[in-house]
Amino acid sequence: MSDAFYASIRHELDAVRAAGLFKEERIIASPQGARVRTADGREVINLCANNYLGLSSHPRVIEAAHEALRSRGFGLSSVRFICGTQDLHKTLERRLSAFLGTEDTILYGSAFDANGGLFETLLGPEDAVISDTLNHASIIDGIRLSKARRMRYAHDDMASLRAQLALARAEGARHVLVFTDGVFSMDGTVARLDEMRGLCDEFGALLGIDECHASGFLGTRGRGTHELRGVFGRVDIITGTLGKALGGASGGFTSARAEVVALLRQRSRPYLFSNTVAPAIVGASIAVLDILEASTELRDRLEHNTRLFRAGIEELGFDIKPGTHPIVPIMVYDAGKAQRLAARLLELGVYVVGFFYPVVPQGQARIRVQISAVHDEPTLRRALDAFAQAGRELELIP
Ligand SMILES: *Cc1c(COP(=O)(O)O)cnc(C)c1O
Repeated sequence: MSDAFYASIRHELDAVRAAGLFKEERIIASPQGARVRTADGREVINLCANNYLGLSSHPRVIEAAHEALRSRGFGLSSVRFICGTQDLHKTLERRLSAFLGTEDTILYGSAFDANGGLFETLLGPEDAVISDTLNHASIIDGIRLSKARRMRYAHDDMASLRAQLALARAEGARHVLVFTDGVFSMDGTVARLDEMRGLCDEFGALLGIDECHASGFLGTRGRGTHELRGVFGRVDIITGTLGKALGGASGGFTSARAEVVALLRQRSRPYLFSNTVAPAIVGASIAVLDILEASTELRDRLEHNTRLFRAGIEELGFDIKPGTHPIVPIMVYDAGKAQRLAARLLELGVYVVGFFYPVVPQGQARIRVQISAVHDEPTLRRALDAFAQAGRELELIP
């Protein structure tokens, strides 16, 4: 009986391998940074971390983590509402609210949990949620858990969104929530929140965004997509992660009006039934906000580096998705070629990852480069040289 089960699992794994879709983990034996050392002892330029601001190994962040570890211990062995809330957790929630321009914030173990515990708690069967077709897996799963009517609009398509809003209203939905990634991670596309806010107002709908690839660096003060799009303070719900630009360890949050956060604290299942965020992470995240509120230097440097890399890669003749986000999708189209390019770049000392179907649509294979504030100019030039060499060898560029 169980033999058949294990055989079917192995069969499925074989199918993943046969399709060329098997994902291997690359072992890193150093801290995260502009360069990392792989387990075989090689040092390579890292262009695939979400370490946008270089805070994953920032000395002040590490010191704050040590300090919290010393003063508040390693863990709390509790969910928040039993005995898992320290002064640090309340401070971080207050500081995130101020940073994001909202009334209150609730921490989760991850952004996946924040999205997982959002829709079910806030929306009932009389309500509708309208989601971008390319939204993150955690949003899709969170929406699946809710009893609200589930509707989708074509990716980044405002006419399609308008049609879905009209449909939701025509069908008599009580509350309507439009939800989108602030930034879409495969393309670096930035949601048009200004237009979306206008449409939501027109139809009396709420607007929610997932800011995982935006918090800390988008907008002139790094507050996120809402700042960049001129709707700071006018988005109803913001979810985000502490696991990318904001230090890169782990943890997530939902930020919104006080009554929304209050209800999430009462009913949101990943909050009620999962452990509190560790003190070291919370202390370090407060230090991250200290750094980002004191100066825009890191997000400014990131913007400079992004411009430099995007211009350089275009000049070489590569085809990239246009934009300004530090996610730079270098289009290769063919999945095999994308893998060969990534492998050759690694030989040349540059660590990047190829993305292909089903992570991106068929025929849209690419290398996704992610720029960081800690990449200095010589490092970026060296990476561009490697792209030039590998690109010519694979006849992707002249
Ligand atoms: C990374 C990511 C998440 C998950 O964040 P975690 O904190 O790692 O769970 C959720 N949404 C989006 C858009 C992301 O990019």
